Amino acid sequence: MHEYPITQSIVQISNEEALKHGAKKITEIRLKIGELSGLVPESLQIYFDMISQGTISEGAKLVVVKIPIKFICNNCGNESGVVGGIYKCPICDSKDIKIINGNEYMIDSMEVE
Ligand SMILES: [Zn+2]
Repeated sequence: MHEYPITQSIVQISNEEALKHGAKKITEIRLKIGELSGLVPESLQIYFDMISQGTISEGAKLVVVKIPIKFICNNCGNESGVVGGIYKCPICDSKDIKIINGNEYMIDSMEVE
């Protein structure tokens, strides 16, 4: 399960950021997660609740926004998203494509008190 180390870094980064800004408590953390990353939001929240115990982010709610998979067509240069799991250029029908996002995760913003 790769959610655990990722959640650890989310807790660490969030806590550091919040403390830097003089916050006493983090109530909500918004994450952007690529659809290809395979991260399950429910698992993230479970690990988060465990890891954040005793820190200022304890009890915070994770709000996950999924980033759709995007690719560039190597044939015509068109940039598009994957629709219905079909990895094919909608313009020229080429399957010669390069995935440009969908694998990342990042902290978008957070609510603090
Ligand atoms: Zn194309």
